[in-house]
Amino acid sequence: MPNVFASKHPLVAHKLTRLRDEKTDPKRFRELVREIAGLLAYEATADLATVPREIQTPLSVLTGQDLKEKIGLVPILRAGLGMVEGIWELMPSSEVWHIGLYRDEQTLKPVEYYNKLPIEPRVSVCLILDPMLATGGSAVATTDVLKRWGVHKIKFVGVIGAPEGIQNMQAHHPDVPIYLAAIDDHLNARGYIVPGLGDAGDRQFGTG
Ligand code: URA
Repeated sequence: MPNVFASKHPLVAHKLTRLRDEKTDPKRFRELVREIAGLLAYEATADLATVPREIQTPLSVLTGQDLKEKIGLVPILRAGLGMVEGIWELMPSSEVWHIGLYRDEQTLKPVEYYNKLPIEPRVSVCLILDPMLATGGSAVATTDVLKRWGVHKIKFVGVIGAPEGIQNMQAHHPDVPIYLAAIDDHLNARGYIVPGLGDAGDRQFGTG
């Protein structure tokens, strides 16, 4: 699938196996989500632009690089929250913007209930964060909001993707690259990714 990147990194595979294990407790689960998010963000940001900056090392002058682009992290509530810290550790000057969506039970469409984005975008690149790309409904709606806001460099960073969610994102936003730790088999009748890891929100917050 074009524009879909499933990590081949052994560290990601190792941590993902522990994350999927039903015996993993919420504390370790949160740590693993944070660690995997950092590793995936490292892969997802390989094309960020830089600007040269001259510095003095203890031995000589050197032209180094500073990140040019201002990055926004947009976690999809609530499970995406657990991915923020792992990426913030790598990119501490990124801004975190929250957009709240819920699924209307009648129409099954996402409804926006929280959005405090300023009128003008203050970031040039946004990473949408959600551990589970299941139906893709929230990812598509969040991308719609960010594009309307004026951000056009958007990437989706998740942990596990279902083929259904990936296809939905690609049908609506083929320009948005998708970075995942794994692509799983299918969605079940209740909308869970199989084999997946269960409910990523419940497993992080101990609410299952
Ligand atoms: N959300 C989850 O937390 N898990 C799934 O399997 C699908 C959606």
